[in-house]
Amino acid sequence: MARYVKDFSEGDKDQKDLLGGKGANLAEMTRLGLPVPPGFTITTEACRAYMRSGEVPAELRVEVTMAVRHLEDQLGRRLGDFHDPLLVSVRSGAKFSMPGMMETVLNVGLNDASVQGLAELSGDERFAWDSYRRLIQMFGRTVLDIDADRFADALDKAKAARGVTADVDLDATDLRALVDTYKQIVREESGREFPQHPREQLDMAIVAVFDSWGTERARLYRRKERIPDDLGTAVNVCSMVFGNLGPTSGTGVAFTRDPASGRTGDYGDYLVNAQGEDVVAGIRNTLSLADLEQVDPAAHAELRQAMRRLETHYRDLCDIEFTIERGKLWMLQTRVGKRTAPAAFRIACQLVDEHLITMDEALSRVTGAQLSQLQFPQFAPAADDDESRVLLTRAMPASPGAAVGMAVFDPATAEQWAAEGKDVILVRRETNPDDLGGMIAAVGVLTARGGKTSHAAVVARGMGRTCVVGAEELVIDATSRTMKARGHTVHEGDIIAIDGTSGEVVLGDVPVMPSPVQRYLEDGLDVALAEAPDDETRDLVRAVDRILRHADATRRLHVHANADTAEDAVRARSLGAEGIGLCRTEHMFLGERRVLVERVVLAADDAEQQKAFDALLPLQRQDFTELLEAMDGLPTTIRLIDPPLHEFLPDLTDLSVRVALAAERGKVDEDDVTLLAAVRRMHEANPMLGLRGVRLGLVVPGLFDLQIRAVCEAVAARLAAGGDPHAEIMVPLVGSVQELRLVRDRAQAIMADVAAEQGVAIDLPVGCMIELPRAALTADRIAAQAQFFSFGTNDLTQTTWGFSRDDVEGAFFAQYTANGVLSVSPFETIDVRGVGQLVQIAVEKGRQTRPDLTLGVCGEHGGDPESIRFFDAVGLDYVSCSPFRVPIARLEAGRAAI
Ligand code: ADP
Ligand code: MG
Ligand code: MG
Repeated sequence: MARYVKDFSEGDKDQKDLLGGKGANLAEMTRLGLPVPPGFTITTEACRAYMRSGEVPAELRVEVTMAVRHLEDQLGRRLGDFHDPLLVSVRSGAKFSMPGMMETVLNVGLNDASVQGLAELSGDERFAWDSYRRLIQMFGRTVLDIDADRFADALDKAKAARGVTADVDLDATDLRALVDTYKQIVREESGREFPQHPREQLDMAIVAVFDSWGTERARLYRRKERIPDDLGTAVNVCSMVFGNLGPTSGTGVAFTRDPASGRTGDYGDYLVNAQGEDVVAGIRNTLSLADLEQVDPAAHAELRQAMRRLETHYRDLCDIEFTIERGKLWMLQTRVGKRTAPAAFRIACQLVDEHLITMDEALSRVTGAQLSQLQFPQFAPAADDDESRVLLTRAMPASPGAAVGMAVFDPATAEQWAAEGKDVILVRRETNPDDLGGMIAAVGVLTARGGKTSHAAVVARGMGRTCVVGAEELVIDATSRTMKARGHTVHEGDIIAIDGTSGEVVLGDVPVMPSPVQRYLEDGLDVALAEAPDDETRDLVRAVDRILRHADATRRLHVHANADTAEDAVRARSLGAEGIGLCRTEHMFLGERRVLVERVVLAADDAEQQKAFDALLPLQRQDFTELLEAMDGLPTTIRLIDPPLHEFLPDLTDLSVRVALAAERGKVDEDDVTLLAAVRRMHEANPMLGLRGVRLGLVVPGLFDLQIRAVCEAVAARLAAGGDPHAEIMVPLVGSVQELRLVRDRAQAIMADVAAEQGVAIDLPVGCMIELPRAALTADRIAAQAQFFSFGTNDLTQTTWGFSRDDVEGAFFAQYTANGVLSVSPFETIDVRGVGQLVQIAVEKGRQTRPDLTLGVCGEHGGDPESIRFFDAVGLDYVSCSPFRVPIARLEAGRAAI
């Protein structure tokens, strides 16, 4: 058995590792008895051996000889023959299809002698010279690395000299002259003659394919797609068939269903008298398959039959490359075709209805990423001649969707205008917590600074608000309320549009298509079907519904939402959330309540501080009561205040300036002076690692007491109203079991107090976040005090890597992804080896101590498809994510379970 070479008749579709995708599928088609031109595949094993030693293995040379001779005998032709030459194509084909790899070289085997033979054999001199000039052009470009423009320019000159525009209008004499010109180009650019010996052509082309695996372009692509660098590529050597043999020949591509819309029925493009990439290059107008039926009914019928066989065999949409040589059909490639998100859902359901696949398979063929694409409105496609869209800039897409509205440059105006019913886009140099109101009010957010983990990006994603960040080309002037870019000035109130999928920022109105799938997810099937504009949209909505319901029936993981307000909770519930995994209580200290927080901090004594707490109590109780009402019957995990207190106080610099200015004018404000002293006192160099979470709760005990009491009283109120509240109390940033024990003791005392006061039984579960490595490593001890764990994977990633999540994006992530230290941000997809290991340790240790410990995750990773797989595998009970991502998590949890 040959080691490095396999005949097409020896392999099958499951050998992609060894034969690459193209080779495996060529073998499969051969096995099925479809008309594939004979040939062989040089395996990825050979490529790996070449990469290891830097030399073509000696066995490979021998095996190629054997394979070529076998091919020659099979076809009764010889490579380089003067009368009846065998020609081959040399085609790259890795396991995963990879742009950036070397392209195909056709017509290998032609030289000054065999071109005559080809002319003789075909009876078509023009065809022979056209094939030869194509070989030199492709070989020059891909094997000898000569600038493609040199050949293209020479071709253009030849056409101009003839006064024609299409290459089919060049005759044999023109092409013969062109071959001479091309050879001259090869000589000039590579310093050598175009190789005349067919075997040398073949060997050079094979090595060029091997080498193209290691090019910078290919490496970059693999890094982005997370394809390992050591797989190597296969090389397919395939006997040539000719679509450029006159009007009864041609080449085409076909799909067994429409990969754009998912419509049933086959579909494709065919080009008469053409070779190779001519179809996709758009050099002449193509025919449809229906046209082909008119031109050549027999070949068309055979093609349709082959397509049907392939679809039945692969049980999926196939795309196909074929050539017709003088009326004879040849299949040159097939694969399971790529498709758009709507097509993926529709086709999966069609195949179920055709009894080709099961619902489980249908579920495995769609992804959370595809569902998320369907959730967003998008810019309606622009007509080609539409010049009304003025592109201001293209920046970083941070949160998808399309938004059109009036530009506003401060959060207050955003809120005010939105209240008047206007659509506004909040434009800021960067955002901070003060912008929150404006961000909620706006239909979209645009910032000049920051990356994908900037405040604007994270908050906008959490809210499902369209957002573009890091638009550095924009010059934003908040004082004059204008921004400038590319010679245009946008004033407050001017209409702009942003696309959070492409990062485009456009001046003026752009039509936006709302998402029918999102309508379905939020308001149910009936509403979405009633509003859908056409049958295809209805079909899509039904498909999403079917697959999502199957995911719900299949998944083991529960899906909760991160929601802070009753309004969010209602939305999360309608999107399918089965509980709240994280209610952040921070927002309850913002806005008008800031004054009360200031009073807590500034209080001269305990009594005064208690007054401030007393004023906050009814406000918090009200918040929690509403939240528990919205989540009636479902678990609602309330996290005690997490960030450092000074985040709720004025900015140190701003306040210093204010105090200094007042002092200059002789109008000292005593409160400001005290406040400034407090802000100074509380200022931390590294607040993320400072007085926050449980630490703050233990240092200012009244704060946690207040919150716990508010939760207990809200529970009592809901019970009194006949509700079914399931509040749970979650303690953030625990590193030691002692911290948790202290808070838990307080919580139990308060529960007993409130129970006695209100005459009801209150026994709320108390648990903690696991977001410090120490907590994970001592989870057995912590579990003694915790009824549940929730993995805060954002902080856990930050503290495990020692990366500040607020700074990394701008600082060095770009470089880290370019040089391969990271393939994806660990804040986006869980770092299984490091952070994931801590999760696993905590799961095991926690359950050792307390077998019925409830386990969940509430970091951003809870909504990330790949991370969900890991959380399922490690045995968590639920994932919790932003409401918008709940359907994605439901789908991915279903996929993880099959
Ligand atoms: P890609 O991976 O870019 O699709 P291919 O190896 O499929 O590259 O080759 C591109 C095109 O070249 C094919 O679609 C086909 O039209 C043409 N081609 C490749 N091999 C042959 C062959 N043996 N005979 C005729 N045409 C071929
Ligand atoms: Mg191809
Ligand atoms: Mg945290």
